[in-house]
Amino acid sequence: MALIVQKFGGTSVGSIERIEAVADLVVKTRQQGHQVVVVLSAMSGETNRLINLAKQIDTRPSSRELDVLISTGEQVSVSLLAMAIIKRGHSAVSLLADQVNILTDNMFGKARIAEVAATRLKHELEHNRIAIIAGFQGRDIEGNITTLGRGGTDTSAVEIAAAIKADECQIYTDVDGVYTTDPRVEPNARRMSQVTFAEMLELASLGAKVLHIRSVEAAGKHNVPLRVLSSFNPDEGTLISFEENDMPNKVVSGIAFNREECLIKVQGVPTGTQYLSKILKLFAENGIEIDMINQVNHNFEKIDYAFTVHSNDYLQALELLSEDQAQLGAQNISGLQAVAKVSAVGMGMKSHSGVASLFFDALAQENINVVLVSTSEIKISVLIDEKYLELAVRALHKAFLTENG
Ligand code: ASP
Ligand code: MG
Repeated sequence: MALIVQKFGGTSVGSIERIEAVADLVVKTRQQGHQVVVVLSAMSGETNRLINLAKQIDTRPSSRELDVLISTGEQVSVSLLAMAIIKRGHSAVSLLADQVNILTDNMFGKARIAEVAATRLKHELEHNRIAIIAGFQGRDIEGNITTLGRGGTDTSAVEIAAAIKADECQIYTDVDGVYTTDPRVEPNARRMSQVTFAEMLELASLGAKVLHIRSVEAAGKHNVPLRVLSSFNPDEGTLISFEENDMPNKVVSGIAFNREECLIKVQGVPTGTQYLSKILKLFAENGIEIDMINQVNHNFEKIDYAFTVHSNDYLQALELLSEDQAQLGAQNISGLQAVAKVSAVGMGMKSHSGVASLFFDALAQENINVVLVSTSEIKISVLIDEKYLELAVRALHKAFLTENG
C-alpha cells in the first residue's frame, strides 16, 4: 500500500464527464489498496474567465481582490469531485487551502508556499476519507487568500505530498508525459520515459509548460518522486528521477521554449557594479524576476545592459526603470516584446564537447539571429525574434533529437 497524491489539471476536470472519469480513476487507485489525496485545478477556462471579469472592472485590479476572485475556480471543482466520489460509495471531503493550513507569503498572484500543515490531512487519511484539496491557493499570515501563479496547482500537489510524506506525486494532465519538445510545434517530438530532476528543472524554467517550475523546485527540495501522466489514457507517463546513472546516454534531452519573455535594455550606464546592483535591487524589491542578463562595455566608459523579464512584468519593469533613470545614470531605456527564448537541455552536455557549435550551426542554417545567449552546465539558451521561434525549435530538435539527426 502506497500513499499517493494525485493532481488533476484543468482539462482533466473540464466537464462533468471528465470529473466523473477522474472520480473513477481515484476510486480505482483506492481499490488497488492505496491511500489517496487529490489536488485539483479549476475547470479549464474558468481561471481565464474570472480574470476577464476582473479586467472589465479595472485593467489593473487590486492584486488582493484578484486572488479572492480567481481562487474560487478550484472551490467549484473540488466540491464536484467530492460529490462524484461519494456517489460511488466512498468517503470524500473537499477542502480549501485555508482549511488545510497552507501558509504562503503575501505576494498576491505569485505567492510561495511556506508551510503545509499535515494535521488535517492525516486526520482525513486516518478516517479513510479521500481529501480533495483546492490547488493554486493559500493563505498568508494575516489570513488573506493568496494564489500561487498560473499553473500553481502542481506546486500545491508537490508541497502537500512532501508534508504528508507521500510515496509518489502523480501529475495528471492532458498530455501523457514530458516530451522532447512541444509536439504541437514539432510533430516528431517523443515522450521520455524518464528525465532527471536537474533536466526537468531546466526544462520547466525554460518554458516547457508541462510542469509549474516551482513544483519541480519543491520536488527537488523535498525529494518527492514525481510522475507526469495523462488522465485521458493513463499509462506509465514520465518519471522524474533523481538517478542520473540509469539515464540513456543522450547529449540533449529536450528543447524548451518560452514566448513569454521580453527584452529590457538599459543603455549608457556609467561603469561600476553599483549601477547594476541598483537596477537589480529595483527589480527585486518589486518582485520582478530577471532571467537573462547581458552586459556590453563601451571602451570601459559606458555599459549597456540587457535583461529579460516575464511579459507580465514588462510594462512595470519599464515604468520603474524610467522613473529612476536619472539615478541609474542611464542614457536610454527601451524594450522589445516580440522575442522568445529557445533552449537545449541535457545532462550529457557536461561530458560532451561540440554541443554549442552544433546548436549555433542549426540556427545559422536557418538564418536565425541571436539577441542574447546564456548557458549553464546542462543547457544553452538563446533569445531570438519571436517570429522564428517554431523554426528554431524544429531545427534544434532535428539536430539533436531526431533518430538520424
Ligand atoms: N487554475 C489555475 C490556472 O488556471 C491553477 C492551475 O490550473 O494550476 O492557472
Ligand atoms: Mg498546468
